[in-house]
Amino acid sequence: MKALVLEKRGVLSLRDVEIEEKVGPADVRVALHTVGVCGSDIHYYTHGSIGPFVVKAPMILGHEASGTVVEVGAEVRNLAVGDRVCMEPGIPDPMSRASLGGMYNLDPSVVFWATPPVHGVTRESVVHPAAFTFRIPEGVGFGEAAMVEPLAVGLHAVKKAAVAPGDVAVVLGAGTIGMVTALAAVAVGCSRVYVTDILKAKLEIAGGYESVVPIDVTAEEAAERVRSDTDGWGADVVFEASGNEQAAASVFDYSCPGGTVVLIGMPLRPVPMDIVSAQAKEARIETIFRYANVYPRALALLGSGKIDLKPLITETFRFDESVAAYEYAAQPKPTSVKTQIRVAESAQS
Ligand code: ZN
Repeated sequence: MKALVLEKRGVLSLRDVEIEEKVGPADVRVALHTVGVCGSDIHYYTHGSIGPFVVKAPMILGHEASGTVVEVGAEVRNLAVGDRVCMEPGIPDPMSRASLGGMYNLDPSVVFWATPPVHGVTRESVVHPAAFTFRIPEGVGFGEAAMVEPLAVGLHAVKKAAVAPGDVAVVLGAGTIGMVTALAAVAVGCSRVYVTDILKAKLEIAGGYESVVPIDVTAEEAAERVRSDTDGWGADVVFEASGNEQAAASVFDYSCPGGTVVLIGMPLRPVPMDIVSAQAKEARIETIFRYANVYPRALALLGSGKIDLKPLITETFRFDESVAAYEYAAQPKPTSVKTQIRVAESAQS
């Protein structure tokens, strides 16, 4: 089948790949429709590695995917041929200690698409466990469904934060993850969500959403602004979604006494943090790694219209333009949030 292959750092090709995948009794075969380009895909493309994961052999990129079921295993009851679906890219060992404990995202043996040496899915089809394949609600397009993967990160973060009705939140960073975290925070009951960034174009998109307040950190001191808008109290929840070292070090400046900080972004280097300023507020600190048990919730929120991801899908490339899509996404316009590749030929969105 045709696939977008990262041959080695900096070298991509759209070419035929020999992949033999049998549909097991609990599996489905999905014809891919849309696959997003993620920051991690770009990082493998430009740097060849992320932490301990090093691209040593040609690897197909892409893990944010939606498509149509074309074959079902003998024991699959929840899906049928023709179903529109999106897939969780991580397959844990269901009998692992982490999985049995409900934290399958932390299973050390998880097999995750487009994380070396595991192939991703910017390709024509893939075989996947039905348990990690979810039907798309009516009215939700393949593009939005392919964005359920990043949305799941945002939802997992707001679940960890245990947002209370009316909370004021701050999201540091208006990239894809920052945006979807802000939307998830609004959907679960935050009265106001500040989103900070240095890029005006991204802040403009954020500000287009109800209850989202953009803050341009090149023009004002963001923590000061949040404090003055909250009578000096601060935000109930702070989400660090930029991965920027300075931003990560500043999270407690935004928090109210008794507030919660969720660390989502992954700084490239260790970040010094002012522990005493956290203690002085008895800040609760949470971290997340990917997500678990949130795909059905994410799809339900999309289906109900409580979250609209369409404004975040800023570029769509055809499958035969995949290499160009990556070249673009590696150096995107400031207005760009999510770049996607439409693998399927069909015009249906
Ligand atoms: Zn992703």
